[in-house]
Amino acid sequence: MIVAIPKERRPGETRVAASPDTVKKLIDLGLDVVVEKGAGQAAAMTDEAYKAAGATIAKDTKTALEKADIVLKVQRPTGSDDKTDEVALMKEGAVLLCILNAYNDKPLLDQLAARKVTTFGMEFVPRITRAQSMDVLSSQSNLAGYKSVLDAAAEFGRAFPMMMTAAGTVPPARVMIMGVGVAGLQAIATARRLGAIVSATDVRLATKEQVESLGATFVMVESEEAKQAETAGGYAKEMSDEYKKQQAALIAETLKKQDIAICTALIPGRKAPTLITEEMVKSMKPGSVIVDLAVEQGGNCECSEPGKVVQKHGVTVVGHLNVPGRLPVDASALYAKNLLNFVTLLIDKETKALKIDLEDEIVKGTLVTQDGQVVHPALKAA
Ligand code: NAD
Repeated sequence: MIVAIPKERRPGETRVAASPDTVKKLIDLGLDVVVEKGAGQAAAMTDEAYKAAGATIAKDTKTALEKADIVLKVQRPTGSDDKTDEVALMKEGAVLLCILNAYNDKPLLDQLAARKVTTFGMEFVPRITRAQSMDVLSSQSNLAGYKSVLDAAAEFGRAFPMMMTAAGTVPPARVMIMGVGVAGLQAIATARRLGAIVSATDVRLATKEQVESLGATFVMVESEEAKQAETAGGYAKEMSDEYKKQQAALIAETLKKQDIAICTALIPGRKAPTLITEEMVKSMKPGSVIVDLAVEQGGNCECSEPGKVVQKHGVTVVGHLNVPGRLPVDASALYAKNLLNFVTLLIDKETKALKIDLEDEIVKGTLVTQDGQVVHPALKAA
C-alpha cells in the first residue's frame, strides 16, 4: 500500500505531514512511502533525509498522488476552484488524513465525497485519553500558545520581567490570557517563564484550578450559568447575552491595567466570541499589545485583522495566520507523529491491509466522508 506526502499548497503553509522519523515507522507498518520533492523544505526536513528514511521522492504533486492509497496532508487539499486540483489528482477511493477546516469549505467536502475519498478530519479526533497521541488540535495549539507570547514580546517596547538595575527599576509586564484551553495554558506558562504577572479568564469554571496552579490569577464572572458552560466534550458553550454583558464589564475593567492580551477563546463550529471591543482597545495604555490567536475564526478582538499586525489607538494588534506554522519544525514533527498514530489505528497488524473499524470511537468520530457521502454528524446538515 502506498502512502503519499504531497507538498502543502495552501498559501503560507510551512508544515509537512510526515517527518523522516515517521516515514521510517510508516515503512515498518508495511507501507511504501512517497514524498513530493521539497515537501519538507520549509520545516528543515530535506529530500535526502526522507530518502535515507526509505521514502521515494516524487517529482511533482501528480506523481506523488496518482497511485497513493493513503494521502497525508496538513491542510485540506485544493479542489476544483484551484488551478491544481489535488482532489482530482487523488485515486478514487483513496484515504485522506488532514485538518479539513470542515465547517468552512462545504464544496470541498462534496468534491471529496464525489471522488469516493474516505476522509478523516483530524480536527475531529475525540478529546479522550486514548486519542491524546493523535490530537492535532492539542499538539498545534500548544505551540501556538507559546509562540503567541513570543510574538507579543517581540512587538512590546518593554521587557517582561522585573529588572532592578543601577539605572532604575523596570516593572514587570502584565499579561492577560483570554481563553484557557490548550493554547491559553501554554501561553500562561510561557508568559510566567518570561517573568510577567499573568491573569487569565475563561467561561469554564474548571479552568480556575489550572490557571492558579500555573501561578496566574483567575478572573471570571462566577455565576450559575458558568457552572454549566462546559459541554460533555470539555468545550465551551455560547453564553447568554446577560452573561456576555457581565463578562464585558469585567474584561473592560481588567484590561485597562494590562500591557498584553493574548486571545485564544474558541467555540467549536462557531464564530469566535468577541471579548475585546474597540472601546476596550482605546482604554488600554499606549504601547500595549494584543495577539489574537482566534483571528482565523473571526477574532476575539474587534480590531484584529487576519494576517496583519496593525496599530489601533496606540495599541499593536497582532493577527498572524497559522501560528503553529511559525514554528514549522516542531509543529511538523508533532503533527507527523499524530498522523502516524492515527494511521497505525487504520492498518490491520496481521494482514497489513487497511481496516476502517467503525466500532472504534476515534475512527468513527473523525470520519467525514465515506462511500460517496458526507457522514460526520456535525456536517451532514451543514
Ligand atoms: P478551544 O480551542 O476550543 O477554546 C479555547 C478556550 O476558550 C477554551 O478553554 C474555552 O472554554 C474558552 N472560551 C470559549 N468561549 C469563551 C468566552 N466567551 N470567554 C472566555 N473563554 C472562552 O479549547 P481547547 O484548547 O481545544 O480545549 C477544549 C477542551 O478540551 C478543554 O476542556 C481541554 O481540557 C480539553 N482537552 C482534552 C484533551 C484530552 O483529554 N485528550 C486534550 C486536549 C484538550
